Amino acid sequence: MKERGVLAVVSGFSGAGKGTLMKALLGKYDNYALSVSATTRKPREGEEHGREYFFVEKAEFEKMIEEDRLIEYAKYVEHYYGTPKEYVMSQMEAGKDVILEIEIQGALKVKEKFPETLLLFVTPPSARELKERLVGRGTETMEVIEARMKRACEEAEQMDRYDYLLINDQVDRCAEEMHRLIQAQHRRMELHGEFVAAMKKELKEISE
Ligand code: 5GP
Repeated sequence: MKERGVLAVVSGFSGAGKGTLMKALLGKYDNYALSVSATTRKPREGEEHGREYFFVEKAEFEKMIEEDRLIEYAKYVEHYYGTPKEYVMSQMEAGKDVILEIEIQGALKVKEKFPETLLLFVTPPSARELKERLVGRGTETMEVIEARMKRACEEAEQMDRYDYLLINDQVDRCAEEMHRLIQAQHRRMELHGEFVAAMKKELKEISE
């Protein structure tokens, strides 16, 4: 039987390079499924409905909340973002390791609901580099960049609630590190309750 997939949450300041990191990871390994979130923010140039996000109106998002179709949701700089439940659950059942690339409030909610979730926090090597990356990306107005830097200050206060810190100085190296951490999660003792119980029982039987 194929082992159930694990759930990993990747968070990090806006501009930490999470998107590129995900591409590197998914390009190299085929055991991952990246959850596609729903959001009320407008698509950026090059983004596609159903690929980066499901872009929905506020009313539709609220309906998803009401119908309990989201694992978690949060408001981030004026917009709603949430994780659709069905895809995550079915992919894990199929043995895929599912990655949620979400912000901190949502990450902590997921951990509360599913304590065995692996929480990874990605950061650039320095705050200065973060600002430079946000400006260099050229997709946001100065006002949005400032709001995101402010949000980064708030998020930094909670970084230490994550299980692991990943410093994204070099994408391929960082993706490899992420892969190793997620794979190690498969061997966590608490994910193998059934095996442990069967082993104890059998040991007793054969030693009697
Ligand atoms: P962006 O607008 O740059 O695509 O995303 C803004 C923030 O929302 C990022 O930190 C991203 O990780 C987070 N985010 C994306 N999808 C979700 C989601 O489904 N739930 C939560 N809580 N945050 C999300």
